[in-house]
Amino acid sequence: MSILIKHVELNGNRTDIAIEGNRIADIGPQDAALFDTIVDGSYSIAVPAFYNCHTHSPMTLLRGYADDMELMDWLNNHIWPAEAKLQPEDIYWGTRLACMEMIHSGTVYFNDMYFMPSGTVRAVEESGLRATIGMFLNDAAPNKEMFEKDSKELWERRDTLSPRIQLSIAPHAIYTCGEKTLRECAEMSQQYGIQLHVHVSETKTEFDGCKEQHGGMTPVEYLDTLGVLSERTFAAHSVHVTEHDMEILAERGVHCVFNPVSNLKLMSGLLPLRRMLDKGVSVVLGTDGTSSNNNLSMFDEMKVASLVSKLANNSPIGAQVDEIYKIATRNGAVASGLDAGVIEKGRLADIVLLDASSAQLTPSYNLVSNLVYSADTSCVRTVICDGKVLMRDGFIEGEAEVIENARRCAKRLLAAARG
Ligand SMILES: [Zn+2]
Repeated sequence: MSILIKHVELNGNRTDIAIEGNRIADIGPQDAALFDTIVDGSYSIAVPAFYNCHTHSPMTLLRGYADDMELMDWLNNHIWPAEAKLQPEDIYWGTRLACMEMIHSGTVYFNDMYFMPSGTVRAVEESGLRATIGMFLNDAAPNKEMFEKDSKELWERRDTLSPRIQLSIAPHAIYTCGEKTLRECAEMSQQYGIQLHVHVSETKTEFDGCKEQHGGMTPVEYLDTLGVLSERTFAAHSVHVTEHDMEILAERGVHCVFNPVSNLKLMSGLLPLRRMLDKGVSVVLGTDGTSSNNNLSMFDEMKVASLVSKLANNSPIGAQVDEIYKIATRNGAVASGLDAGVIEKGRLADIVLLDASSAQLTPSYNLVSNLVYSADTSCVRTVICDGKVLMRDGFIEGEAEVIENARRCAKRLLAAARG
């Protein structure tokens, strides 16, 4: 299977991009007769896709279900009781809805953490996206055994999954998973070379509680003593961190996932982006789930990331647009073990075509500035992931069916949760 993106703007010039299989085969003038599919790029700008490094995709079904409250009140009294009513088909259709939303907004990969992940796997396989899907663990959950069974079955059939899918081990957090579970997760991550995905130091309550329970250790120090922190670890949030924590995170090569919209909405605090980058910590970007965001747009996430980095620095000179853009694209891809995130010959063919006639992209003195501060989902026309066209001129196959089923599942969920 080969695709030719004809006469597209790339890095300020008009050119052709040739895709063979799942890789970019060449960049430069091509003979259109040699390709199976031609995509006219005349009115488009080719840019790398986004890599969303922390989300809970099935939570699209809980978008707008409960807003504007403290994290623990929100979880204990609203989200967790509703989640207890979720059925396997909700996980599947919720993820299908998330995948569609991500494709529309130019995202081709997400790092997911949620229970009963076999439904997430099926949805990702059918959507054409890439994902790392967490085998979720939560010692405090009433349905703990059921979650573990689903994850175990998924792990046993790991060799049969699409090559676009990686599995990770995903203990929810230090306040929901015990020491034994966390140690076992670290061992599994090391033994099989898989990612470990965990929420770390999201709130001041978590930070203070950890110090009280674990002899004055911060969550980062505590996780480090358990062997949890390595270059395979994705530490979602990493909001409340000390200078010493940042040194540990940099030394271990941990990827800290910045989720600024969710952190602002729940008033959890702000990851110290400028200080982390200066200390050499690997920072990537994520949206978190749609009940604390409430969308999956990496455009929104980049803009807010930049604005809050200024706030945290008390200066308009926070992180620079090039840095913000890189953590949303190339850094996310590399951290996730993908040879992608940049449009170059030989790389994986993950490409977004933007509408060059968008008002938000006009004028174009600095494309990256426009992408971070001005562009939105409406600028995305066509999305290619792993050498396949997932959206063409705004059209995704099967969209109406996904919306209809997501609405049906949400209606049943609402009745079950409030009934
Ligand atoms: Zn989260």
